Amino acid sequence: TGFLSIEKLSKTYEGPTTALADFSMEIGQGERWSVVGASGSGKSTLLRLMAGLEAQDQGAVFYRGERILHSGEKLVPGYDAIQLVKQDKGLYPHSTVAENISRPLLQYDKAYARERLDELLSLFGLEKKRDSLPRQLSGGQQQKVAIARAMSLEPEVLLLDEPFSSLDSHQKRTLLDELNLIFQDLAITLVLVTHDIQDALLITDKLCVMAHGKLMRKGEIKDIH
Ligand code: ADP
Ligand code: ADP
Repeated sequence: TGFLSIEKLSKTYEGPTTALADFSMEIGQGERWSVVGASGSGKSTLLRLMAGLEAQDQGAVFYRGERILHSGEKLVPGYDAIQLVKQDKGLYPHSTVAENISRPLLQYDKAYARERLDELLSLFGLEKKRDSLPRQLSGGQQQKVAIARAMSLEPEVLLLDEPFSSLDSHQKRTLLDELNLIFQDLAITLVLVTHDIQDALLITDKLCVMAHGKLMRKGEIKDIH
């Protein structure tokens, strides 16, 4: 069995709207994928199902041979291994940067949690912002806090849903350069949903093109682009 296998996923919402139609894909450990496609093509739905946040109608996602269960089911070991940063970031507005990032660490030993928080603040260059509230940060900094929080439990797979959508082009470029440096030295597997193939090129090397809930093309970005 592979690292991350998406097998014939289908999902239909009321309407009815088909968000995913028999979608299959294999993701190898450490691979960096971008997912592009028109609005409504099923990209966000795919990430939510991969993160176990929602139930598919048919098909399954397997992580290291184990089926990813959705939040209504009993969680499998290794569930923390796949983390999604949603488009709205979901930061707690009344909590500081440090509190936001360390929230998933509350269940762990205090010394470990403090050490991991310091590591993340340093990795993301947020040391000076540790006591700031999200609204006191730039859009790019907020995005870094959301990503740092998702990485607090040291996931093997990071799913990013349009992390640049609320940023202007300068902020976007800065964040892309920073993320590039951060991910460079990590073995983390990345799946980035974006609508801009230029962004895709900067931090990923594989591309999957979706339309109407289906996989249209996939391969190395340099071959497709
Ligand atoms: P994308 O991320 O590519 O824009 P989505 O996965 O968000 O696509 O949506 C795929 C389709 O499913 C769209 O037609 C969207 O309107 C629909 N959809 C997504 N989520 C829901 C939901 N919770 N309820 C109803 N329809 C939904
Ligand atoms: P999760 O389980 O995904 O961390 P929660 O159920 O704790 O989410 O919270 C759902 C949403 O409610 C969050 O995305 C956040 O926007 C908001 N929220 C939760 N706790 C707080 C808080 N302490 N301060 C501000 N907003 C919060």
